[in-house]
Amino acid sequence: MLQVNSFAAGKWIAPSQEARPIYSAVTGEKIAQAGSPLDTQAMLDYARTVGGPALHRLTFHDRARRLKALALYLKERKKPLYGLSYTTGATHADSQIDIDGGITTMLVFASKGRRELPDAHVYLDGEMEQLSRSGTFMGQHICTPMLGAAVHINAYNFPVWGMLEKLAPTLLAGVPAIIKPATATAHVAEVAFRIMLESGIFPEGAMQFIAGGSGGLLGQLGPQDTVAFTGSADTALKLRSSEHLLRHAVRFTAEQDSLNASILGPDATPGTPEFDLFITEAAREITTKAGQKCTAIRRIIAPEPLVEPVIDALSARLDTARIGDPAARETTMGALVSEAQRADVQARLATLASEAQRVYGTDTAPLDQGAFMTPQLLHCPAPDEAQAVHAVEAFGPVSTIMPYRDLLHAAALANRGGGSLVASVITHDPDVASQLAQGIAAHHGRIYVNDRDSMEESTGHGSPLPHMVHGGPGRAGGGEEMGGVRGVMHYMQRTAVQGSPRMLSAIGQTWLPGAPVTKAVEHPFRRRFGDLALGESLLTAPRKITLADIEHFAHFTGDTFYAHMNEAAARANPFFPGRVAHGYLLLSFAAGLFVEPNPGPVLANTGLNALRFQKPVVPGDRLRARLTVKRKTKRTEDYGEVLWHVELENQEGEAVATYELLTMVAT
Ligand code: NAP
Repeated sequence: MLQVNSFAAGKWIAPSQEARPIYSAVTGEKIAQAGSPLDTQAMLDYARTVGGPALHRLTFHDRARRLKALALYLKERKKPLYGLSYTTGATHADSQIDIDGGITTMLVFASKGRRELPDAHVYLDGEMEQLSRSGTFMGQHICTPMLGAAVHINAYNFPVWGMLEKLAPTLLAGVPAIIKPATATAHVAEVAFRIMLESGIFPEGAMQFIAGGSGGLLGQLGPQDTVAFTGSADTALKLRSSEHLLRHAVRFTAEQDSLNASILGPDATPGTPEFDLFITEAAREITTKAGQKCTAIRRIIAPEPLVEPVIDALSARLDTARIGDPAARETTMGALVSEAQRADVQARLATLASEAQRVYGTDTAPLDQGAFMTPQLLHCPAPDEAQAVHAVEAFGPVSTIMPYRDLLHAAALANRGGGSLVASVITHDPDVASQLAQGIAAHHGRIYVNDRDSMEESTGHGSPLPHMVHGGPGRAGGGEEMGGVRGVMHYMQRTAVQGSPRMLSAIGQTWLPGAPVTKAVEHPFRRRFGDLALGESLLTAPRKITLADIEHFAHFTGDTFYAHMNEAAARANPFFPGRVAHGYLLLSFAAGLFVEPNPGPVLANTGLNALRFQKPVVPGDRLRARLTVKRKTKRTEDYGEVLWHVELENQEGEAVATYELLTMVAT
């Protein structure tokens, strides 16, 4: 018998007499027990006073690097997770989604953290806002980590992925996590958690684990704590409507069940690649994890004349499913997590039977023991009058086919789900994709469009990706997770800061235009990464722009646009006083003004951001460039990225162009 322990306030705690049982999905035997009463107040204190401060001392990049190390550490030790995972009914392919999918998700967050977040403690959200005429009083939104604990309540179906997809953005944000997996598969989650904890990669207090019930934890949360919940709509409603959470405005994100749809385009008739693709995706969503996926296709919406062909093709495809021992490599469909879950699915099937008749599947279990069941395909001929098929989630291998008349009708049916995580649109016709997207986007967190062009590389209707948001409106919980850096922000507070550019620069750990600059003691391109300071600035000598320069550049590059070449035509243009210099000529001259020609610490120019040409430059204007260190980001031991604010100004001191220049500078 496996003992599933909690890890609370720095100690492992074994199950007590009140522990909850965990059964094998394959044999039905009790294989583990989880839970004991915990001092949840001590857990919160530990997270807030030990884990939080230790995480806050690290920059986003420090945390991202540790996240990568943690994912790789887990990857090397994942084998036992596969062995245990079979007891939950998951096949090898199902476990890959859970275990390797979870690890990959963590790696994506680690990589995005280093590419898209600063090597600092404060994240700047958007640009500075001009709040005063002369720019002495400005605004900047910043994000800083919440100062409490992030409580993660997970569903049973993906014990590893579910834990990691929440943990990665939380740790990246700098917030300690208290993880409460669903009891039915907590024995798998505990092993993954134990590996991560034992790695010692994150500081003490950064993560804790609750096996079994969470006791009074939710009633002890305060306004700096957050809850990220994944599970059924009923549990979400019960938890989020607690007076305590509402009174303290505890941030509560819910990812709950949804009646996801897949729509077959009218062009995707039998014989087209899209028709086969549609059947493949639908069959996969019914059999993977035995249909226990929040994103599984519950409603198959097909043009009326194609309903029969879809039923025939899908039934033939489902015939090829090999249901059996999840540990056997030939098995393509495992068991539901428990016999109780199977009984729940059967009860919901009985409700659906009042509106939809079964066209595939039987009541007889395919194996004598364990929580196995055959795929169930239902047909609802009158979906407009139906209620249950749009509202009752049978969390198993169950899907209902329904007809649509036209695209408006298809969208209306998809939207009857009342808000879903995902809808797929299988079509090769961009007009169909566009009309459907406009018709259903507001009701869906994700739209997955697939056709012959993308099918080889597409990731599947049911796969939430760390780069893209996962969640959905209404019935799906109204929440959002992942989506790259967006997911990190759920664990941070956005604050509007107002003040002078000097103050905003100090607070944002970034030099902002308008803040004082320090005159460079030598050419900044001769200085190493570590020697450069924020605000260090170089003002170049001026250069006069001549008509000969403009003509030379025009003929040399081939850019003989009339505004540079024809005085009368240029004057007739509302933007120009006459012939003007090319914007690219100004950039090239700027480079010539601030270049340091000799070999030195600047290794490469890697790009420009936010280029704006603000004022036309005419022959006779004298330009100079001001280059100021805006932000520094160490990339490796050998070099770092320096972001320069560049402003080109004319003889009147007016800005004619501004941009950000990126260089790699040796350490
Ligand atoms: P569930 O019964 O709603 O349980 C979800 C989680 O809530 C479990 O960890 C459960 O713990 C916990 N919980 C239940 N009552 C609680 C309470 N009073 N206080 C604190 N925690 C409590 O859902 P499930 O059966 O695990 O998962 C299946 C459902 O999740 C399906 O409806 C599916 O659609 C949905 N789901 C949604 C997503 C998504 O991303 N949107 C992903 C996966 C699954 P115990 O197990 O210990 O009771």
